[in-house]
Amino acid sequence: RELMVNLGERSYPIRIGSGLLARAGEQLLQAGLSVKSPLLVVSDDAVAPLYLDGLLEQLRSSGFRAASCIVPAGEPSKSLARFEEIMTKALEHGLDRKSAIVALGGGVVGDLAGYAAASYMRGIRFVQMPTTILAHDSSVGGKVAVNHPMAKNIIGAFHQPSLVLYDLDTLKTLPRREVSSGLAEVVKHGLIRDATFVDWCIDNAERLLALDAEALGYALYKGCAVKADIVSSDETEQGVRAILNLGHTIGHALEAVAGYNELHHGEAISIGMIGSAMLGVQLGAPQEVYLRTREALGKAGLPVSLPEHFDTDRIMEAMMHDKKFGEGKMVFIVPTAIGEVEIRQDIRQQWVRDIVERLKREAS
Ligand code: NAD
Ligand code: ZN
Repeated sequence: RELMVNLGERSYPIRIGSGLLARAGEQLLQAGLSVKSPLLVVSDDAVAPLYLDGLLEQLRSSGFRAASCIVPAGEPSKSLARFEEIMTKALEHGLDRKSAIVALGGGVVGDLAGYAAASYMRGIRFVQMPTTILAHDSSVGGKVAVNHPMAKNIIGAFHQPSLVLYDLDTLKTLPRREVSSGLAEVVKHGLIRDATFVDWCIDNAERLLALDAEALGYALYKGCAVKADIVSSDETEQGVRAILNLGHTIGHALEAVAGYNELHHGEAISIGMIGSAMLGVQLGAPQEVYLRTREALGKAGLPVSLPEHFDTDRIMEAMMHDKKFGEGKMVFIVPTAIGEVEIRQDIRQQWVRDIVERLKREAS
């Protein structure tokens, strides 16, 4: 399957299928990369032992010179320290203006490598080879970033890849928890744009959890299609792109409070989307919005309530620090129906506080 992200001169294809890494060299040549300029593949220490050697060998057999940089798996690698390490590797290996940095891994590697590509020599080419389900979201759209100890994704850029190569075979080794976490963003794309796809996700949840290749291919295609369409109409988030943040205002606050360990990204935004659905119903959406949201996320193996030990004050404080927090009132993406959301600028802090409390009550 193939999709295009339409951004004029910066348009690029998303290829989804089996066996794509085994043809990576040819794909890079097609995307306009030259064997004259060295590549740097960035990966993490969980993904690299599985797929890096095969990829490097493949690239070399197509005539590319390719070096690699391996960072520890996990969110802490989205740091300026790792960014600097990549810069050092890029200089050591003589990457030039026509080189590319390749991200082989999940959203952490994609965001980090992408920010490195955006910065090295004021921007070189970038290729995404996502290996998690979640990365169907992070690999499309060009948002790249590292974290500051005080705030997530706060040091970043918009830098579109030249190609997204999504090899479904790599997903077979994903731990179960990462499968569910990734499905949260898949369901999110349905919730904001496509009610039929939400139904499909509910009906096919078991196949998705079992990593059925056909079901996964379709789900990732649909998820990427929604993302690509929204990004194409608002590349730098001046307006409509903000709807992709459904569940993220609460979700990011939960991740911050939990220290990024207890809750994975998809789990945090799952709880956040339940909160947004509660808010939607409170503001007039049909009860079905809450029930279907809960069903879709629950069937994907995701948490739909907040563990009681989470401190409401700390969550509210973390939300104030979040960059999506406007002046006085809160900006929130609120569902109006399944497959439809609106951007509300008038959400009172007290309403959100009540929702956080309710998310905890649902746990008992
Ligand atoms: P991740 O990259 O940390 O991957 C999750 C875990 O799975 C890691 O331990 C990784 O080593 C392991 N893993 C990855 N692929 C594997 C495979 N094929 N087999 C076995 N193990 C594998 O996390 P993620 O969930 O992919 O991404 C989360 C990150 O994405 C967050 O930092 C989030 O902020 C970012 N994100 C960015 C955007 C964006 O638009 N740029 C959108 C959504 C999320
Ligand atoms: Zn997300």
